[in-house]
Amino acid sequence: MSDDPIRMPGEAVAAPAGIYEHWCEHPGCTKWGGWGYSINKHTPPRWFCWEHRDDGEALLGGIARQ
Ligand SMILES: [Zn+2]
Repeated sequence: MSDDPIRMPGEAVAAPAGIYEHWCEHPGCTKWGGWGYSINKHTPPRWFCWEHRDDGEALLGGIARQ
């Protein structure tokens, strides 16, 4: 199961000094992308803020609503 979708709450990711910044990728949004979504471990994650994390869920093909 190496290609399972990956969900990464920001707090769970220890950010070493110098890690690249990742802001929410939702168009027009300027918030911190605290939620990372990757379709598998071989694909760099896309980041979204709390409000737009559904965008990330959509990337994974899931249906999320809040
Ligand atoms: Zn956002």
